Amino acid sequence: MNGFRRWMGRYMVGRYGNDELNRFLLIVSAILIVIGIFVPRHILNVLVIVCLILVYCRMFSRNFAKRQQENRKYLELKARFTGGRAAGTRQGRGAGAAGSGNVFRKKQKPAPGKRIFICPNCKGSLQVPVGAGRIRIRCPHCGSEFEENV
Ligand SMILES: [Zn+2]
Repeated sequence: MNGFRRWMGRYMVGRYGNDELNRFLLIVSAILIVIGIFVPRHILNVLVIVCLILVYCRMFSRNFAKRQQENRKYLELKARFTGGRAAGTRQGRGAGAAGSGNVFRKKQKPAPGKRIFICPNCKGSLQVPVGAGRIRIRCPHCGSEFEENV
């Protein structure tokens, strides 16, 4: 087991690893497996396998930019489903609207040399290169502009 761990650690060097989207896919597969116990359906098994293949392909991927982009898309979708509110709150609704933007900011990993900003208009996230001082940022989601220090 030790040897396997060491091998695994070496193998994962330079690989993308897990993120929120992978955790979500794993939860989905677990739910599908449980449903499959009660209602055996071949399609459920196929879905589980597809989910798991996706998880492993993403985990062992070396294409970080692409994976981060997928993860970002997933987080944006999720934020939309939870009414713009961030992850973490299981029973989300009514659990305090103020300050949840910070949770969202912390959860995301920006690309190197970039910072995540939350659009004050649509609450969408955008990445901005740091070190330019005070700049006008144009939101790619809704087109509104705002000023920030970067
Ligand atoms: Zn916006």
